Amino acid sequence: MLYLIMTTGRCNLSCRYCGGSFPDSLVPWEVKYRLDDLLDFLSKDREPIVAFYGGEPLLNTKLIGDLLDSMEPSKLVIQTNGLLARKLSPRLWRRFDAVLLSIDGREEVTDYYRGRGVYKRVLEAAAYIRKSGFKGDLIARMTVSEKSSILRDVLHLTSLGVFDHIHWQLDAVWSRDWGFKRWLRESYMPELTQLTSIWARKLSQGEVVGLVPLLGVLRALLFEPNPAPPCEAGVKAFAISTSGDILACPIAVDVEWGKLGSIESASPGELPGRVRIGSPCTTCKYFPVCGGRCLYAYMERLWGEEGFRLVCSSVKHLIEEVRRVKPAATRLLEEGVLSGEQLYYPKYNNTTEIIP
Ligand code: SF4
Ligand code: SF4
Repeated sequence: MLYLIMTTGRCNLSCRYCGGSFPDSLVPWEVKYRLDDLLDFLSKDREPIVAFYGGEPLLNTKLIGDLLDSMEPSKLVIQTNGLLARKLSPRLWRRFDAVLLSIDGREEVTDYYRGRGVYKRVLEAAAYIRKSGFKGDLIARMTVSEKSSILRDVLHLTSLGVFDHIHWQLDAVWSRDWGFKRWLRESYMPELTQLTSIWARKLSQGEVVGLVPLLGVLRALLFEPNPAPPCEAGVKAFAISTSGDILACPIAVDVEWGKLGSIESASPGELPGRVRIGSPCTTCKYFPVCGGRCLYAYMERLWGEEGFRLVCSSVKHLIEEVRRVKPAATRLLEEGVLSGEQLYYPKYNNTTEIIP
């Protein structure tokens, strides 16, 4: 199973769509449990995937170092803004299987949302991590919002030749409504159509551009249904707060349904399935691919039913666009132009949630 270990509730940035740190009262900025309790808890899972998460996880490199000196996870992942990349030694960077760096696309878009100079610092971090000898999957983790052009920002990131994969999440539901509906219709959905066509053209030439939402949807259409939800929150993925609480999802810090127990008293086997996606998703025809998208959004519906349906419309559009590619992808597999190995992504839960 996947464990998102929140090393601190604090963040060193205050991005426009997020607002920065969790309040100390909800996710303590210091770890409150003993390392041995965490190690005991994780030792009960034979193949734990460990992902460091925050706040900004690199604000607590001590926990990262101590944990990695004491255990060998089956896979090791971190989601970071990268600004403090040099705080972690090359020896530790080499142990990671996937590093997700937050960057929103072009410099002006990234710096508008994340702060002046952040774009350059993220690319410096990427260079440092690679120079450290990291050989794993370097993933750009975008948040896309009002100023984003999914076409231009994704193509910009692919043109850098820095990232193996690019994933994006919609700035929907968490913040106030910033004109999401109009942006979906006028910008995101038409540009997603264009982006998928460009991606499909590359596929036909035997080149798999690592766009996670497109690959993740194609995986479900070609190989097997996506998990529900695709991030596996509450099913096979759990967050461990700095308080020692086990959460169904790392955002579910202030809701009762999110709290599943604590590392001192619970064992991993007791956790799955206490909170699940249900109706209307389970009867939706897109469910085998969409998986209900996001457990938190499903439970909380912060933009109401209309907001929920609006986000659904973006998911359906994505799925239909990738569905158009399926016959060609099947043919390319049969002809041996592409292999299943190339198209099956992600191969393990690397914390990319697949459905934006
Ligand atoms: S498209 Fe909407 S209703 Fe359908 S499964 Fe996804 S989130 Fe649920
Ligand atoms: S996609 Fe939703 S449910 Fe899954 S980890 Fe993210 S916020 Fe939580």
